[in-house]
This record gives sequence, C-alpha cells and structure tokens, in this order.
Amino acid sequence: MKLHSGLPYWIVKNQLFDYYNPLRKDVSADVVIVGSGITGALAAHELCKAGLDCCVVDKRSIATGSSAASTALLQYEIDLPLHQLADKIGEENAAFAYRSCLESISDLERILKETGVNADFERVPTVFYASDAKGEDIITKEYEMRRRHNLPVDMLSKEDLKRRYGMNTYAGALTNGESAQADAYKAAVGLLEHHLGRGDLRVYTHTEIADIEEGNDGCRLISVDGHTIYCRYVVVATGFEAGRFLPENVMKLTSTYALISHPVDSRLIWPDRALIWETADPYLYMRTSSGNRIIIGGEDENFGNPKRRDRLLRKKVRKLEEKFHSLFPDIPMTAEMAWCGTFSTTDDGLPFIGPWDDGDRVYFDLGYGGNGITFSVIGAQIIRRALTGCPDRNDEIFGFKRLD
Ligand SMILES: Cc1cc2nc3c(=O)[nH]c(=O)nc-3n(C[C@H](O)[C@H](O)[C@H](O)COP(=O)(O)OP(=O)(O)OC[C@H]3O[C@@H](n4cnc5c(N)ncnc54)[C@H](O)[C@@H]3O)c2cc1C
Repeated sequence: MKLHSGLPYWIVKNQLFDYYNPLRKDVSADVVIVGSGITGALAAHELCKAGLDCCVVDKRSIATGSSAASTALLQYEIDLPLHQLADKIGEENAAFAYRSCLESISDLERILKETGVNADFERVPTVFYASDAKGEDIITKEYEMRRRHNLPVDMLSKEDLKRRYGMNTYAGALTNGESAQADAYKAAVGLLEHHLGRGDLRVYTHTEIADIEEGNDGCRLISVDGHTIYCRYVVVATGFEAGRFLPENVMKLTSTYALISHPVDSRLIWPDRALIWETADPYLYMRTSSGNRIIIGGEDENFGNPKRRDRLLRKKVRKLEEKFHSLFPDIPMTAEMAWCGTFSTTDDGLPFIGPWDDGDRVYFDLGYGGNGITFSVIGAQIIRRALTGCPDRNDEIFGFKRLD
C-alpha cells in the first residue's frame, strides 16, 4: 500500500538515511522486528538494551512508511476523550490508559536523551477546544474526569482563548507542559543508527517478509526473495500494513491530510506554541515547527484507497486553510507543502500490543490511531517486559484479549 503521497515535510527537511542492506542469505536472531518506523525503532531500542540479539527488517528504506508522514504531536490525550473511553472500557482502565500515555512522553524524552538522538523533541502545552456548543459539554465532562484521576488539565473560557491565544472559538481545556512535539522520522532513524553504531543491532532493508511460520521452539520468517530468518520471537511493527499477518481485521483504515505553511512572522504565532486540537470529529489539529512554520492536519475520511485519498489532496488543503483562518483570523498563513497519508483506527482508540493468543511467539506492536507514537513507546515497553519474563497489567488494556 502507498502509505503517503504529496510532499511530507520531514522527507524534505531531513536527509534520507541511505542504508541499503537487503537480506542475501539465511540468518538467525533472538528477535526479529518487522518494520523500521518509530514503532520498530523503539522496540529495537528496548530489546537491544535488554541484551537480546535483534534484527530489524523493512521492505522500504528505513522509516519511510507512516513515520515519515507523521505530524508527531505527542499528547497524553488519545483520539477518544477520557470520559468516552471510560464508557467503553470502564473508568479505571481508561484512566490507566491515559496515565500510560502521559508517562510515555517522558519516557520518549528520556530515551532520546540517553541515546543522544536529536529528534527536535520539544515540550509544549496542548489546547483542546470546543468546536461548538456541544463540544463545550465534552470539555466540561473531560475536565471533571481528568481532575478526578489527577491527570493534568485546566479550564479555559471562550474569553481566555480569545485573549491569550487569539482564537475564535468556544471554551477549552489546557494541558500545560505535559505534551511535546518531535520529528518521528528523525527519532526512528536516530535510534536505529545509534544501535547500528554500537554493533548490537542488524538492519535489513528492502526485504519484504512474505510469511511468518510459528513452531513450538521458534519462528521462521520467509522473505519475498526466499531467504529465511530463524528466531525465538517476532515483533510485527508493520504499522497499517499489518493486516496480512493478523488472523482477523482489527482496524479501520482512514485517510488523513496535512500541510506545512510558509514561515509566519514569529510575533503572530500563538503563545507557547501550544499543540491545538478540537472536539469535532474529524478534528482539526495544529502545531508549529522550526522556521516559524505552522503544521495543520485533519479532514480525515473513513476509507483506505490511496488513489481516492490522493485525488482529494488539493481540496482538503483548501479546507484546512479555511478552517485555520476562521480560527485564527489574524494569522496570515498559506500552505507551502502538503501531503496525505493513511492511518488506522480501532473502536476504542487504543492500540493492539501483544500476542494474538497467550503463549504465541509472534507479538504485534500496532500503535493505531492519530496519536500512535505514544503507543509505540508503550508497545516497546510491554514487549520488552513480556520477552524478559515480566508480563504486566497493560496486557488486558492494550492486548487482543479485549476483543473476546
Ligand atoms: C499524516 C499523518 C499524521 C499523523 N500525525 C500523528 C501525530 O501528530 N501524532 C502521533 O502520535 N501520531 C500521528 N500519526 C500516526 C503515526 O504517524 C503512526 O502511529 C506511526 O508513524 C506508526 O509508526 P509505525 O512504525 O508503526 O509504522 P510505519 O512508520 O508505517 O512503519 C512500518 C514499517 O513496516 C514496514 N513493513 C510493512 N510491511 C512489511 C513487510 N511485509 N515486510 C517488511 N517490512 C514491512 C513498512 O515499510 C514501514 O516502514 C500520523 C499519521 C499520519 C499518516
């Protein structure tokens, strides 16, 4: 599947990591991670750190799947507000999932620091605003439930948002300093490069895995070119192309659109460079980037066909511009580059992490949703704990058991 089209900013901003190393013979490892995006890179980091002999396999160049198209807003909020998630999985579990996402942002910050990877990670607040009067009800319920669980949140009135942020909208909720933004492509490449440099990881690129066979003692991965990798465990971190390895479909494909503006006068950009998103579904979201540019995304549609997605790009970019201007009438913003991509959603907005059945040697690490990067951090930790003999409660919330 073509995971993105148009011109993703990160591909232009960063140099491509030219690492060409297709699998040319049969090899073996403790763990094979299929996928070199941010999910695979974080899993590789955790497992290498735990002393396991790992290799990463990707059919493309390193991290050029969805991670290269990601706008990389890092928020502890997931696509489904806490009080709505609570209706689906119970309040305690929902609060636990939110808390895990909150911790994952600090964990990512620590991982980047300890590996010396500069992924333009930057702490910023989040403004979650009501798109309409109905949205104010969502904000109030959300505020109350987050407070009850000691999750960071403050209320912002309509007037606060106008006065402090210059925004034309209804009330909102502020998460101060707990969110962040980054460059997911740089993070994935940096982590893999770090372990390649240390000599504790092998990476095979341009190597497509056609099949995974699981036996009692281990697994065999067979590449499209007919080579085999023998291993004890497999981590499937193939993002939105995981369907071929799953016994059942667990996700819905969604097409999404993003743009980056020409540089804007820094004095006109809203304070604290907060991440901004709204209660409407689909939601509009935005962040800033280096060079005083504004990144805007949204206009999601529930289909996965890449051709249909690409045909809509220009129209969607116009829509994103119009929505931005009605929210921020005083910021003269025009798009410089735009792109579209595909991502997946699940019914409860949570990822699928773990084996399909207890005892399986194939672990899925599928950080679905519009805030998938926090799930990639959580997934890497869950899998490291499982493969080193310390399963935990996350299993029940993020695993396949919840489908039963
Ligand atoms: C436009 C857009 C904006 C987004 N914005 C945000 C955001 O603001 N915040 C956020 O947290 N998330 C966001 N997301 C989601 C986020 O980008 C994803 O959750 C994340 O990038 C997924 O990473 P991944 O490593 O799982 O997948 P990918 O980056 O797609 O990596 C999977 C890799 O697996 C490889 N692969 C697949 N099949 C095979 C096979 N059979 N054999 C070998 N290799 C294979 C692919 O080539 C690919 O490189 C956004 C997504 C898009 C598209």
